[in-house]
Amino acid sequence: MATHAQPGPASLSTVQLRNRMILSARRIITEHWPRVDRCPICGSGWPCPPTETAYGYLATLGQDGWAPPQRAGSRR
Ligand SMILES: [Zn+2]
Repeated sequence: MATHAQPGPASLSTVQLRNRMILSARRIITEHWPRVDRCPICGSGWPCPPTETAYGYLATLGQDGWAPPQRAGSRR
């Protein structure tokens, strides 16, 4: 349990790298999440290309089907 990961760009483990990529993909999906049925950033029908790419990546990691948490209120 006490694996001490050394911080540093060159010593990222595969798991850390993977988690980082997952977070990036999720952020893309969240940013491009449609308000109604349309991407707010690309303005095209959803899923837009960035979303499809991100989902494609998540799917390869067994993370497909992920959706951003619904926030009822305002978002910054
Ligand atoms: Zn988009």
